[in-house]
Amino acid sequence: MKKLKYSSVVVLILICIFCTFNLALAEDNKKCTDKEYSKKIVYLTFDDGPTNNTLKILKILEEENVKATFFVIGELAKENSDILKQVEGQGHEICIHTYNHKNCIYSSKEEYWEDYNKANKAITDVLGHEPSKFMRMPGGSSTTIGDKGTVRAIRNELCDEGLYYVDWNISIEDALSTNVPVEKLLSTFKKELKKTFIDPNTAIVLMHDGASNSTTPKALPSIIKYFKDNDYEFKNFGDISEEELSHLLNQRQINKYNQPKQTDASN
Ligand SMILES: [Zn+2]
Repeated sequence: MKKLKYSSVVVLILICIFCTFNLALAEDNKKCTDKEYSKKIVYLTFDDGPTNNTLKILKILEEENVKATFFVIGELAKENSDILKQVEGQGHEICIHTYNHKNCIYSSKEEYWEDYNKANKAITDVLGHEPSKFMRMPGGSSTTIGDKGTVRAIRNELCDEGLYYVDWNISIEDALSTNVPVEKLLSTFKKELKKTFIDPNTAIVLMHDGASNSTTPKALPSIIKYFKDNDYEFKNFGDISEEELSHLLNQRQINKYNQPKQTDASN
């Protein structure tokens, strides 16, 4: 009887140790999961370069020690090849935007791909390798330029080609007119943070480095300061992890209209 009691106590102690170990393990896993989902990342993106304004932006990015993504116009890449090489040399990601940013690219799939392939060739000729698989459709993936069915078919084909079209959740609206005053850019930025920032952990900021965006470099330090003050990690699409890509797909910042199958099933 005494022997039985003794072995019962031993079993109880073993159960307690096991439970405590499991609880600790569960807590550790919880911490990992929370950590995963609380990652705060900002992707600074610049469209419509390279131009002389790109150089001003590169200088600020270097001083601030942050990386960004440039969605490039092929025609300008040819004209300003040294600037494009400098963008890559400083560790930023170069992606396709368009060859010459003409609205007629959305008149048919053939027109679109002709423009895309021309941009691809122009950038490849300068860099000596193909640009990133991430790209940005002129006007974004919800563009109202062109027939809806044609734009839908283009989006589908981009995905079929293994490309990722990238949108944004913050715009400083620096392309609404020429050289928008810095104060206006920063007040738009603040409004965007409140209104459209649906995903508090991931910011994709749309800015422009075209020839008519001379005020964007002046607004940039304040924008970077906001994200640094709020503990965001700066990344570009060249160093995006599988988890981050999956998060952006789920948040519909990438391939907005072409969701992965597992996401469709869970909806
Ligand atoms: Zn553009």
